[in-house]
Amino acid sequence: VDEAACLRGRVRSAIGANNCQVETPDGSLYHCTVRRVLRTLLRQARSPVVAGDLVLFQPEGDSKGVIERVEPRHGTLSRVSRGLEHVIAANSDQALIVGSAAEPQLKPSLIDRFLVSAGKGGLHVIICINKVDLTDATALQPIAGMYGRLGYDVVMTSATEGHGVDHLRRLLHGRQTLVAGQSGVGKSSLLNAVQPGLGRAISGVSRDSGKGRHTTRVTELIPLTEGGSVIDTPGIRQFELWDVIAEEVEAWFVEFRPFVALCRFPDCSHTHEADCAVKQAVVEGRIASHRFESYVRIMSGDS
Ligand code: GDP
Ligand code: ZN
Repeated sequence: VDEAACLRGRVRSAIGANNCQVETPDGSLYHCTVRRVLRTLLRQARSPVVAGDLVLFQPEGDSKGVIERVEPRHGTLSRVSRGLEHVIAANSDQALIVGSAAEPQLKPSLIDRFLVSAGKGGLHVIICINKVDLTDATALQPIAGMYGRLGYDVVMTSATEGHGVDHLRRLLHGRQTLVAGQSGVGKSSLLNAVQPGLGRAISGVSRDSGKGRHTTRVTELIPLTEGGSVIDTPGIRQFELWDVIAEEVEAWFVEFRPFVALCRFPDCSHTHEADCAVKQAVVEGRIASHRFESYVRIMSGDS
């Protein structure tokens, strides 16, 4: 590779294994393919180029190029399907998981499942509970407090009324943030509120026809004008479809840690075993029972 003739950039979106939009530090966009030999190697490693990847590419004219190299990744989010891991996005500093207080109802089990995947990927997590205008905020305090005590950032927002949006904007500032959450919780609305003028389409109404979304949305990196960027991941909205490897789960239920060493069996899975210190801690109210329920559901392969 003639490095002097190459440019560095960040992948904004990737469709398939050979079709990427790359942005250079000066903000220019290049439509890139991937050098065949590199594509073969990436396929063998089951890790095609994804949004957030830092790449070296050979420009061809001022809007096209060929990717020659992918820099080592940090902060990835992966999905495990049939025992194989697929990277969804790379080089994020943190993940924002959005749920809504109502419509749809908050599903802590989805948050808990996401915390396992994000923890494994080395991502700090911000939990955002949106649509607080639809409910009595005091009802959300116990759950918000619990996640806060576990070490996660928790922010309560109303994208429509602007509540909490400044707080969220500060948490996103200067960092690369992966955004995930069930469909309809208000992710697009929140991104529009954080960055006025962004113009993300809101569910149910497409920007032009009003007939609803009919395009396939891709995982996409969106630079924030005030610094930092977000990676919107429509592909991982349905957490129900995720597989998680059982051995990895316990490590990301951080509040279990003080108890696991006290179980009678060293390989205790905290599900059916006798003399389990984790279950005892649930009984004593030292671990939230809904967290334990999430754990059992994930371990049983249930959503
Ligand atoms: P997404 O699928 O997560 O991107 O959700 P959207 O941003 O498309 O929003 C889904 C629906 O929820 C739309 O009808 C929004 O107007 C509505 N919505 C989003 N945020 C709020 C909020 O804070 N409060 C209320 N009441 N509705 C909201
Ligand atoms: Zn146990």
